Amino acid sequence: MNFSEKFRVKPGNTIRLAKIDAAFKDKHEDQSSTLAEMENYKKRLRDLQYLLYAENKQSLLIILQAMDAGGKDGTINHVLGSMNPQGTRVYGFKVPSAEEASHDFLWRIHQAAPHSGQVSIFNRSHYEDVLISRVHNLIPKKVWSKRYDLINDFEKNLSDSGTHILKFYLHISKDEQLRRFKHRLDDPTRHWKISESDYREREFWGDYTKAYEDVLCKCSTEHAPWFVIPADHKWFRNLAVSQIVVATLESLKMEFPKPTIDIKKVREKYHKAEKEANN
Ligand code: ATP
Ligand code: MG
Repeated sequence: MNFSEKFRVKPGNTIRLAKIDAAFKDKHEDQSSTLAEMENYKKRLRDLQYLLYAENKQSLLIILQAMDAGGKDGTINHVLGSMNPQGTRVYGFKVPSAEEASHDFLWRIHQAAPHSGQVSIFNRSHYEDVLISRVHNLIPKKVWSKRYDLINDFEKNLSDSGTHILKFYLHISKDEQLRRFKHRLDDPTRHWKISESDYREREFWGDYTKAYEDVLCKCSTEHAPWFVIPADHKWFRNLAVSQIVVATLESLKMEFPKPTIDIKKVREKYHKAEKEANN
């Protein structure tokens, strides 16, 4: 199945998240039937990122948003895990610092945008400024309601400058969130991940859902599409995200740069050195 098509939010389309099955797993029973396909994606991700880095002309920005315990960390680990760390970066956006808050909301985001040849992943992003800010009335409606257009313009600017943008909403069900909270409680090595705010925010599930639906409808564009990824099954989430990232990188028509030196002459030098070394 072509996940880029299936999960992409068409610009302007209305989304009702409650109608999207978070436990969708396509034709697969379980993870075992996907292992070979996954291995193939990992290899292609590595090769394509190497090419992006070598070509050094365009860049890739992956934005991850989800409810708490939605699997952002796991996705990052999985998708970036097969790439060369030298050409990749991860940025986590938390509550803005005093300095960040004293600038416009896109200031800290713009600084983290990838430079050419690089893959960047945002763990949360400027979308928090129309999600948590809206849900908790941190700013007036007349301010946040203007931000959708500002975000679209900002992303268009990045896109026009050679940054390809993919935005993933990792869609988990409310039941699955609770299962993951329990898993964290039961596993002492995960206790550090638990925060009171997870439970507090869960009470606002409905408000967050509404805020996400507006984001998906207003900010999925041709140049920076949103994808709603069924994420109750971690292995399916990884499969879908990997396939979409691979397909996007493959569509970029990247090429290795032409050598700046005369390879024939260098080869002659090499043979001379080899001969000397053997004498
Ligand atoms: P995990 O899922 O592993 O808990 P996390 O991304 O939730 O990781 P936390 O430190 O728990 O990391 O939470 C970061 C918090 O910062 C979130 O509650 C998020 O909503 C908040 N945040 C991020 N950006 C903004 C913003 N622009 N304004 C207000 N709050 C923000
Ligand atoms: Mg958290």
